[in-house]
Amino acid sequence: MISEQKLVFGTVCKITGDKKVPFNEIWSSLEDLEEKISMNQPSSELSRVNENAGIQKVEVSQETYNTVQDALYYSDLTEGFFNPVLGSVIQLWKNGPDFAVLPEISDIQEGLKHTDVTKIKLSEAEGKFYIYLEDPGMKFDLGGIGKGIAADLVKKILKEHKIDSALINLGGNIYGVGLKENDEKWNIGIQNPLDERGSYLKIVSVDDKSVVTSGSYERNFIEDGVLYHHILDPRTGMSANNGIISSTIINESSTACDALSTACYVMGIDKAVKIIKSLKGFEAIFVLETGEIVQVSGDENENY
Ligand code: ADP
Ligand code: MG
Repeated sequence: MISEQKLVFGTVCKITGDKKVPFNEIWSSLEDLEEKISMNQPSSELSRVNENAGIQKVEVSQETYNTVQDALYYSDLTEGFFNPVLGSVIQLWKNGPDFAVLPEISDIQEGLKHTDVTKIKLSEAEGKFYIYLEDPGMKFDLGGIGKGIAADLVKKILKEHKIDSALINLGGNIYGVGLKENDEKWNIGIQNPLDERGSYLKIVSVDDKSVVTSGSYERNFIEDGVLYHHILDPRTGMSANNGIISSTIINESSTACDALSTACYVMGIDKAVKIIKSLKGFEAIFVLETGEIVQVSGDENENY
């Protein structure tokens, strides 16, 4: 097995597989995806949609259009706990790429007025795709789903090249493609949120599945003894603090895992268990602030 890694979506993306892995095609496809949906790229399609909020609709690629449709689907599925237009609030917390500023409450309240997903208008005409944000104060931020979308794109390219054994690690969004070379499952360590980095809470074995964890132990800061982190409760605009400190989702779709891990983190354990149980083919591992570990499997008989 050989590996290559690159910085994509502001994070390290490492791909491990045999020598047939089309690394160059993968890296250029990821760069192309960044030019479409990255918020850190001022020229990206979604950055242009943000700039034109309240002004005009912007023509986008079908890929960007589908990504926003997916984001809206997960927003709906999670009763808005996953919100793709929290940009007006998220920017208040940021200093460059880092979550490092405790905003004024009045600014958060103002920002929260511009997070209504029904103001996202999608339209298609003559084979062209358009997105318009009706509210001038509104901004997309797909940080909660982007790495999942990127991991699914890499998996798709690997499958097109008939590569049936590879490991994708996109800044902690993991995809175990197929089985390992020795036909065993991929072992993925779930970090213990209560312990120092590198210590595992649990090892999960997967084949052809993604494993995605959202936790408050990353991208955080402490002010006056309070831990603030980058997963926000869309109802308050504050760091989510509803009892879950780590939320791991396992499924074939890394996009689904990413959106749901963020949303479940926010919604609290009762709702999170309910939602995962209602979905076919999903598994989840939640760590509560009490140290309790809750493991859930989705309903095999239900379609979604
Ligand atoms: P990580 O970047 O650690 O993988 P997540 O997938 O949990 O983290 O996503 C957190 C990012 O998603 C934040 O940095 C922010 O950009 C965005 N975000 C924060 N809260 C929400 C939310 N409730 N819904 C959608 N996106 C969010
Ligand atoms: Mg996420």
